[in-house]
Amino acid sequence: MLNMSRLNIIFLLFLCVSCTRKLKIQQNLSNLRGSLKTDSTKNFILYYPKNSFIDSNKINLALSIENYRADILRIMHENDYPFKIEAFFFSTKNEMQLKLRSQSEGLSFPRDNIACFIYSRNFNGYTRHELSHIISINLWGKSALWIEEGFATLTDESFQTESFHKQTRNILNTKDFIPVELLFTKFNQFNGNWFRYVETASLLRFIKEKYGIDGIKTVWRNKALFLEDRSQDDLIKEWIKMLEKPIS
Ligand SMILES: [Zn+2]
Repeated sequence: MLNMSRLNIIFLLFLCVSCTRKLKIQQNLSNLRGSLKTDSTKNFILYYPKNSFIDSNKINLALSIENYRADILRIMHENDYPFKIEAFFFSTKNEMQLKLRSQSEGLSFPRDNIACFIYSRNFNGYTRHELSHIISINLWGKSALWIEEGFATLTDESFQTESFHKQTRNILNTKDFIPVELLFTKFNQFNGNWFRYVETASLLRFIKEKYGIDGIKTVWRNKALFLEDRSQDDLIKEWIKMLEKPIS
């Protein structure tokens, strides 16, 4: 009992720290609104620094972000997303970290429909990933962390030089492969390890290929890897078997 309440206190402390951190970032964003240039597209309000690379490429940016939204909805088999999203763009990682006091390279606040990205001549990663968090969580509700992250990563696959199945196949049976059961419960313990995204995206891609979008939605709703007639073990075995199958 004593242990349980201590655990609860630790959990609450963790929650408070992450809530306070998020609130601070959101406060920093509110303060920034007035100093940034603003544009509106059909589904977004865009904020970006004046006289920047983004400013001179805003037409491309507006087109890409609308296309990303459409791609995500297509992957989710959803017709529409009813909310306008506020998208904050920064020219460099340093600028974003300095202005928001956050170490991230992309951020999303699904409840508030706000996302932050880096957009420069050399880098515009994570836009789809962060947008996907906003759209999926608001349309489908919250899920387990590994499912939310794996799915957001999956929506970004067309930007990868190798598919997530191929990347996972390359590390299968090597020390880099993380047993997926560990990712289900300890996703955050593998912070900084790219393979946590690759493996969960490959696993969800496999679910989508074999069981369709309904399979993905069931796993999402269950907040765990199982379907009506398939256990977690069954699905992991099927996934590994698919990865081990020689490619024709
Ligand atoms: Zn994410």
